[in-house]
Amino acid sequence: METRTVRPLTFKVLITSGEVEKTNSVGRAVDNIAKELMERNIEVIKATSSDDATAIIVSDSSLDAVMIEWEMENSLDVITALRYRNKKVPIFLMQDHSSASVLPINIMEMISEIVFMLEDTAPFIAGRVQEAAKRYITSIAPPMTRDLIKFATVHEYSWHTPGHTGGIAFLKTAVGRGFYEYFGENLFRSDLSISVGELGSLLDHSGSIGESEKYIARIFGADRSYTVTNGSSTSNRMIYMASITLGDIALCDRNCHKSVEQAMAISGATPTYLVPLRNYLGIIGPIPPEKLTKESTTELIAKNPLSHNASHHRATHATVTNSTYDGICYSAKRVVELLGQSVDRIHFDEAWYGYARFNKMYVDRFGMYGKVEDYPDDAPTVITTQSTHKLLAALSQASYIHVRDGRNSIDHNRFNEAFMMNSSTSPFYPMIASNEVAASMMDEAGELLTTESIREAVDFRQMVMKYNRELSAETKNGWFFTTWNPDEVTDPKTGGRVSFAKADPELLTTNPDCWILHPNESWHGYGDLEDGYAMLDPIKVSVVTPGVNRDGTMAETGIPAMLLVSYLDAKGIVNEKTTDFTVLFLFSMGITKGKWGTLLNAMLEFKRDYDVNTSLRTTIPSLVANYPERYEKMGLRDLADEMFVQMKSTHQTKIQSEAYEILPRPDTSPYHAYQQLVHNNIEQLPISEIAHRTLGTGIVPYPPGIPLLMPGENAGPADGPLIGYLTALEKFDRKFPGFGHDTHGVENINGTYYVYCLKKNA
Ligand SMILES: *Cc1c(COP(=O)(O)O)cnc(C)c1O
Repeated sequence: METRTVRPLTFKVLITSGEVEKTNSVGRAVDNIAKELMERNIEVIKATSSDDATAIIVSDSSLDAVMIEWEMENSLDVITALRYRNKKVPIFLMQDHSSASVLPINIMEMISEIVFMLEDTAPFIAGRVQEAAKRYITSIAPPMTRDLIKFATVHEYSWHTPGHTGGIAFLKTAVGRGFYEYFGENLFRSDLSISVGELGSLLDHSGSIGESEKYIARIFGADRSYTVTNGSSTSNRMIYMASITLGDIALCDRNCHKSVEQAMAISGATPTYLVPLRNYLGIIGPIPPEKLTKESTTELIAKNPLSHNASHHRATHATVTNSTYDGICYSAKRVVELLGQSVDRIHFDEAWYGYARFNKMYVDRFGMYGKVEDYPDDAPTVITTQSTHKLLAALSQASYIHVRDGRNSIDHNRFNEAFMMNSSTSPFYPMIASNEVAASMMDEAGELLTTESIREAVDFRQMVMKYNRELSAETKNGWFFTTWNPDEVTDPKTGGRVSFAKADPELLTTNPDCWILHPNESWHGYGDLEDGYAMLDPIKVSVVTPGVNRDGTMAETGIPAMLLVSYLDAKGIVNEKTTDFTVLFLFSMGITKGKWGTLLNAMLEFKRDYDVNTSLRTTIPSLVANYPERYEKMGLRDLADEMFVQMKSTHQTKIQSEAYEILPRPDTSPYHAYQQLVHNNIEQLPISEIAHRTLGTGIVPYPPGIPLLMPGENAGPADGPLIGYLTALEKFDRKFPGFGHDTHGVENINGTYYVYCLKKNA
């Protein structure tokens, strides 16, 4: 017979007293309370000093109640440390006697109850602690998760889908059983069907699931929030389908995600692109504010060859990526003010940015800025998408849509048609729960968690800059990597400028002014940008390799970033994204000193190996194993030099700039191009034959990861920058096997790039 048990909820209580286990009256009282708690199946941890207690509080987030002896030295510090990390866990202050001094109000505000160790009985105290822990657990469990756990624990026989019925089906074969045992019973018990009425429905937004969306909306400052279980890719498609019909004009960030391109192909939008700035490193910056004014967007629409077909000449919808992949975040407030002059619905794609609301660093820099009740009715409707799984803690594919109703808003029932059209009728319940837990975590400890990420990112950046100074000064050709951030910041106390490396870490961790792209600063390279309009997010750290000067010219020697990436990869360190000379590392909530310390060590090792030209056989063994003839005899420095010379000779970085500075001419919309693809009115051509042809699918080279060509756009002349850039990449890939560029929409067949074009008659 199978024994299936769901773990009962147990509690964990920390007792802190200087008298623990001492043979005096307080020590005995503490002991008795602990015994009494243990008899109630409560786990008890004892700390004998404030330092000990603080260490436990910092490392253990699973305490359900904390008891602190007031007369212990530094007890106030323990309370403060605990409240900083957890606003809700019950704190019991233990006093010797009820005649003890009256507590100051600030302490009373932080604690939950006072118990008198020498007067109240141990069973009475333990009972109160148990009740408080129970209330606490119930109060922090978000609504859907609470009901899901309750439901999964009690119901045994189901006749509905999923057919594995709580995991039982898996037990019938060896492989199934292995799967079941690996993931554990609770997952299968929680994998429920939409026909379970008790939890409501994601498609109707009813019951506990509906409650959970309201809960999320409250935490994120939205009028309404939706849980989406197919990623922000689907969220973006839902939003387009709810807002746009065939021919409507959408103002769209050229730096948009693939899913936005797909949303346009599905909805029939006529895109008019807003082109962001790029800098000397090839890092995509913000769309400049002057491009968002009414005059500018009207002119852009008028100039768009497709707009004379559009159903009307006013944009219906605008999409802006916030923050960008490299961590540029806008003043969302300013963007809404500017775009609001010409469009009623503004959509921020915040896939990588769900945490912004929870730290003062990002004030007004996310779509749901400010308070929902303060948002004027005549302001534009704002919609944001966030991939909960990317930088908050949720299961893969979990995503939010948040809506702030304003002008021309889409009421829930109409919006829900688009929601359902893009949803499965069998959503994964654990994922829905994880979306809610992510919100709950931010509600509970968002500021703490985000501040930790920022602080670690600041420490790492300062350390890299410090090594850079020291190692550059060491010898004539001394060098080290840098991080992409201001060279200097203003100290508000003195008004003076201090170098980034020497600035007070606390200042860098808390003051947004340190990260704002102030006009004409050379580090960002975006020129005379409106002050305060854009900011670099401290937690998105770009490590810069040598090779490009600030004026955009190439240096004498250089190290292409992809080489550092391969080197790190061989050491098990995987980064997020790479441009020609930058490597992006995310300092997400999972960051630790150990993790970035390992990265920094590996960077120092790279430097050593590069300086002495260590063989590739030892530094990147898999490369030599795959392409022995090509790389066997080379060292790390040899390869860096050869790659750099190649990039210099084809002007790859410069052509990339040119290719992204022009907007290709659209021959037809993404919607029509897609229809041709369905009808097979397309042909696959080598890039040497695509001059003046219309693209059938989009082409997105990584880096920089923004579309070079959208479906329906014209490739331009053979000697133009679009084909020129693709040709440079193709040459590079041929010359450096193992370092091929990853370009969506391009098939590399025996070293030749092929893309889909519409047939000439199409
Ligand atoms: C990842 C990403 C998406 C898609 O999100 P998923 O949750 O992976 O579907 C959308 N927009 C941007 C900007 C992204 O980076």
